[in-house]
Parts: sequence; structure tokens; C-alpha cells
Amino acid sequence: MRIEAAVSRAGEAHPTIEALDLEEPRAGEVRVRVAAAGICHTDLYCHAGLGVPIPMPIVLGHEGAGIIEALGGGVRELAVGDHVVLSGASCGRCPKCLAGRPTYCRDAMKLSFGGARADGSSPLSQRGEPVHGMFFGQSSFATHLIAPERSAVKVAKDLPLHRLGPLGCGMITGAGSVLEAFRVAPGQSIVIFGVGSVGLAAVMAARIAGAPSIVAVDVSAERLRLAGELGATHTLRFDATTAGVLREIERDGFIFSFNTTNVAEVFTLAVECLAMEGTAGFVTRPRGGWTPNMATLLACGRKLQGILGGGAAPQRFIPLLLDYWGQGRFPFERLIEEFPFERIGEAWEACAQGAVVKPVLVMPPSEA
Ligand SMILES: [Zn+2]
Ligand SMILES: [Zn+2]
Repeated sequence: MRIEAAVSRAGEAHPTIEALDLEEPRAGEVRVRVAAAGICHTDLYCHAGLGVPIPMPIVLGHEGAGIIEALGGGVRELAVGDHVVLSGASCGRCPKCLAGRPTYCRDAMKLSFGGARADGSSPLSQRGEPVHGMFFGQSSFATHLIAPERSAVKVAKDLPLHRLGPLGCGMITGAGSVLEAFRVAPGQSIVIFGVGSVGLAAVMAARIAGAPSIVAVDVSAERLRLAGELGATHTLRFDATTAGVLREIERDGFIFSFNTTNVAEVFTLAVECLAMEGTAGFVTRPRGGWTPNMATLLACGRKLQGILGGGAAPQRFIPLLLDYWGQGRFPFERLIEEFPFERIGEAWEACAQGAVVKPVLVMPPSEA
């Protein structure tokens, strides 16, 4: 079928909307009419050629939500008309997938960034020329997409579907890191460096977990104010005094630090502010490299923990986040600003500049 999709081409400032052809879903796949899709910094980095290398041209987007329109063969758990949130792709057969830990699937990187299905094919083309797709198993900057059944998490039809896409990456990454990867328990303190969408999701989750000290550190006064409203007990503007202030708040150090930034200096602070046997989690790589102080890691029994997708299984964790949302404990809609799909350039810029915490592209209504 003919669809509209925002195509990333090398050297362009942002993806631009073009007409593409989308294959019918194959066995184990579904076709989704996209309601809306969030923009994540991973999309920005990949488009600019700064993240994990990806083939171009490609359709990015990995925070899609929509309605199932067609089923490939053998799909049993989903039906036409179901509302779904799309999350990362995984093989379903490797040891981590079988253990319910699909973010650490052995094929996760290839299935997320390879621009194709596992067999190398893409469901997207333009005038007979292939266009890369299946970004994180979805490529949701489009009116329609093909996704593996495994990536589509069914949600209730009375929920505001056009706002649910960010649950698939930004929200699951921040909240999953706190609740699944760290398993923060009541009484355990946490400091969160960088309160964009991932950091703010972590703030809300830390409050759910019962952390007594939830310290948000950022350079933006606006975001710190929002962090305070969402549950941070302390908000600190990052500067040369931050290390000292953190010591005043938790004399023995924090049990957990969660770093959403790529700033080498913050990586150092995120380890130095820890208590004995504390854990420093991080979700992106330090820009320009960074060398940890092995002596203090050793002497203090501290841990550095990389976390992908919050370490959470989307099929189990996204419904849990929606339960918290229903109870008013996870008001992630406060991070969202909606843009019509055709204003993707403006939304892209707003995301890059940090003017909007979580831009969400709302697709045009179906003509059918
Ligand atoms: Zn993302
Ligand atoms: Zn796997």
C-alpha cells in the first residue's frame, strides 16, 4: 500500500515526508495504522550519523502507537482493531528472550539498527527501490508500519492512544531503570543526572518505589521545576558546587545514581556521589570517552551498570506503567507536546534544542 513516511537521507537537517510503498505483513507481523509517534534523542543521533551506524535512506521512529489494520500469517495474540504500543524488537528465541529479558536479546542491536528484518529485507520501498525500515522493529515516523507481533503491546481502547508512544522507549527506559534494573526499595536514595524524558520518568518511578531522597540534577531551571512537581525531593542546577551539595544531602552517599547524560564530567560525579556498594546506572555513552577511577570502584565496592530499555520486558512493564498512570502516579503526559506530522522539522528542532521534553508527532486521521 501507499503510505507517507518521514525519510532520513544523509546530510539533511531532518527527515522529510515522502510517499513510500509498504509491503503486506509477513508471517508473525502486523500492519499498524500509526496514531502518533514520539521523537527520541536516539532518532536525532541516528539521523545525524552520530549514533550507532545505520544504513540510509531509512525511516526512523521507535515510539509508535496505533491500531492494528492487518495481520500476517500465524498471528494469534492480536486482532484487527486492537490498540497497540510498539517497543523494541527481539528474536524471541535466545537465552535472554526466553528468560523474559528481551532488551538484552542477542540480536537486539541488529534488529534495532540494521534497517531491515533479520533476513535482511525491508517492507519499505519507493518506486521499486528499497528504503530501509524496521528501525527498532517499527519505523514509526509514518502513517503505517509493519511490526513483529512480539513488539506490539496491546493496550485498552479507552486510553488516549496518541499519547502512549513514548511508553515504548523514553518512559520504559527511565522507569524500568529504577523499578526493574535497580529495583529501588523504600529507604534507598537516588540521584538522577539529566531530567529530560528519561530522567523525569526515573523521577516518577523513584517516587513510586518509595525513595526518600530523589535528587534531580540538570542545567535547565525549567526542567528542574518540572522534576520537583513530579516527585524530586531536591533539585540542583549542575555546577562546580554540585558534588558538595550532594554530600550535604546524603552524607554517606547515594545507593543509586542514574545518568541520562553523555557528559564525561557527570559520569565521574555519578560514581563519586555513591555510597559504599552503590550503583551508577547509565543509558548512553560518554561523549569523547571517559576513564572510570578503578581505585574508588574497587575500594568502595561500587558498580557501573549499563542499562538498555530500562532492562524491562515491554509486554509486562508497559501495562504496569499504564496502571500507575491510571492511579495518577505516573503522569507522563505532562512531558508531551504534540505536533502534526507535517511539522516534523519544527518538532525535530524543538527536541534537539531541548525546548520540548517529549515531542510527539500526531498522524493525520485515516481517510477510510
Ligand atoms: Zn529512544
Ligand atoms: Zn533474543
